Formats: sequence, C-alpha cells, structure tokens
Amino acid sequence: MYKIRKKVIISYILCVFFQQLSWGQDLHRVRKTIDTLASASFWGRGYTFNGHELAAKFIAKEFKEIGLKNYEKNYFQTFPIDINTFPNTPALYIGEQKLVAGKDFIVQPASAGGIGKGNVYLLDSAFLYAENPSIATDINFTNKVLVYESKHEKKVFELSKQLIKRLLQANCWIKCSPKLTMSLSNEAYLPPTFELNSQYLPQLKNGAAITFALENQLLEKYQTQNIVGYKKGKKNADSIIVFSAHYDHLGTLGKEAIFYGANDNASGISMLLELARHYTAHHSPYTVVFIAFGAEEAGLLGSKYFVENPPFELSKIKLLVNLDLVGTGDEGLGIVNATVFPQQFAVFDKINQEKKYFSRFIKRGKAANSDHYFFTEKGVPSFFIYGLGGIQAYHDIDDKAATLPLTKYKEIFAIITEWVQQLTPKK
Ligand SMILES: [Zn+2]
Repeated sequence: MYKIRKKVIISYILCVFFQQLSWGQDLHRVRKTIDTLASASFWGRGYTFNGHELAAKFIAKEFKEIGLKNYEKNYFQTFPIDINTFPNTPALYIGEQKLVAGKDFIVQPASAGGIGKGNVYLLDSAFLYAENPSIATDINFTNKVLVYESKHEKKVFELSKQLIKRLLQANCWIKCSPKLTMSLSNEAYLPPTFELNSQYLPQLKNGAAITFALENQLLEKYQTQNIVGYKKGKKNADSIIVFSAHYDHLGTLGKEAIFYGANDNASGISMLLELARHYTAHHSPYTVVFIAFGAEEAGLLGSKYFVENPPFELSKIKLLVNLDLVGTGDEGLGIVNATVFPQQFAVFDKINQEKKYFSRFIKRGKAANSDHYFFTEKGVPSFFIYGLGGIQAYHDIDDKAATLPLTKYKEIFAIITEWVQQLTPKK
C-alpha cells in the first residue's frame, strides 16, 4: 500500500540521516534476501534439484555486486561430500489413510530406500523393558513394521546386538516423535525408517497395516562449495576479521516437502551480506573476510574443508563471528565460546550494558554446533551468535520467511559492528 510505503521511505531517510555510520542495513532489503533464499525455487538449499548450487550462485552474484574481492574464481571454494538424498516424495499409509510428507512424517536421514507393506510390531515399554527381551528371538520380524516412540530410542539401541540384528530384518521402521526434526546423513545404512508425528501413535496398534515407498540416492564425492569474498584492510591488512554464516539447509523430500530454512540460515546469510555492504561502504583498518559456508547441515563439512585449506594463514584471524539463526532474539542471544574467549566477550557484554540491546545472554563454552567449531579448535577467537525465543520452527517445513519475526535483527547487527570497531584499533 502506498501510504505505508511512504512512511517506510520517510523513516528510512531519517534513519539513514541520523544513524548513517553505524547502520548499514535496511529491513526491507533483508526481507527480500531471506524471501529469495528461503523460496521454493531454491529447494531448501540442499542436494536435490541442485538447490545448494542455485543458492551459492545467488550469493556469489551478491558478493560481486557489493564489490568484494575473491581468492578463487567466482568466489567458489569447491569440495566433495557424501550425502544421502530423497529425490522423490516418500509415501506412507496407515491402512488406507495417506500421510503427508513433511507435515505428518519425515524420514530418518540414514535411511535406505524400499517399497513394501507390513504389520505393526510395537517396541513398547513392555517389550523394551522386559526382563529378558531375548524372548523376541522367536518372532519373525521380516514382514513387520517396527514402531517405537522417540523417548525410547536410546533403549532400542541398547538392546543386545543379536536382537538388533534381527530387528533390522523388519522391512520398515517408524519412530514416533512429538516434534519432527529433520537432519542429514553422509551414509545410508538403515532400513527405510520414517519419523512420524506422535498424534498417529494411537492408530499404530499391533498388527495395523502399513504401506510405504521410499527412494533414496546416496551421492558420493558430490561437489558443493563455500563462497568466500573479502575487503582488504586500510592500515592493518594482515589482521583479519571473519564473518561467516552457512547458506545450505536440509533440502527436500521430493518436490512436495521443502525445508525452506528461513531462520536456519537465510537469516545469517542476509546479515552476512548486510555486513559486506557495511564494510565496503566504510573503511576498516583490518581486512574483512566474508564466508558463506556450504554443507553445515551435512556435518560442518564446508568449514572443516576451509580450515584444512585456508586461502590465508588462520593465525591472522583476530576474530571470527559466525551467524546462524539470527531471525529472532526476543529472549536474548546465545553466545557459544563466550567463556572460552572471555576478553573479547567482555567488550561485547559492556556494549550491551550501555546500550541495553538485549535482555540477556546465555554464555556458553565450546560446542560443535555450527561453523565456528573447527576454527576454535585451531585457536582462532571465534564466536557463534544465535537468537533466543520467538518462533519454534526448527529443521522442519515451518521455518519459513513469512513467519520469521526479525525481532532483534537491527540490534544484532548494531552490537556486532560496534564490537568489531572496538576490537580493531585504527593505529
Ligand atoms: Zn540447522
């Protein structure tokens, strides 16, 4: 609507006028970036329908337009991964009832493919906690569909090896979970295994008929890429600040279930691009490097490759800021490595005490949960910053651009740029 537009433009002009130096980004452009990266045409930025490469090309084009320099052609640093994919929409029926992929069920990432039918055999507490579960050795599992609840998963895999071997003869497994959380695997070693929303558990009585079809494709030595650009420092070009965010996500189950990954991590990439715009518009004494990592969801593989094949000495990095899940922040921020690098964190904390951007920080130690990890292991002062509170969508089909609040986006941008400014003295 025109009126709203006008208001936005006026407030934008005022914003630029009063805060031009510290404020690089405008939320309208941020929304556009997130909408693009988390749109259906990028296929959840995974390894079906070339989603990862479409996203990578988009980011490289942005890097070029912003004016970043490159270490390698097209900003790409390519590397191979093994990854299990599901190029066709999987099917699952309870009796005649067709369930919906993505919404009602997902698949275990290490599943092999298979088509078949079977009758439910419940691995319930009576079975799992029986004094002697080896009584089950009399049962023929070959035409069964094994069903268990996620809360019992640990117990299932604590059963005797002999029994697990027999359970693996079942032609399909179903794990029932209250929340579907997708992930990726570099292997395919399980029988077809579905993760089903727990609301269907009452229908899965012993003997219930299940029909399923799952097709997997294990891609080996599949080429994917990091995207790396930089702006050379004015005074101290041999000292480096790195900003990173992963652009990959979980891809799709066929064409119908798309894991859009708006918060995880189109949000981080949008901020990476805003930071690149900020540091190309304002001089920085240090060299600033921008890395969009690939294959984070596949096991931090992009950042692992980068650390093993860096285009500069890692010891030159004075600070690495990794952004993942920055679309919220309603309840503060989580800061991984805050207790590992207390000096740098103290500066961050002091800015917040003065400016009151965030209600709280969760100060965390080491964690191998995003792309900062392998840098930390090499002694690089690296931090992983993520938003707390807000939406609950995570690794599911509901992590969409339209519902991403961006509550504290500006504050996250502001505190990071002020922090870096204080840590990069001009002399
Ligand atoms: Zn993730």
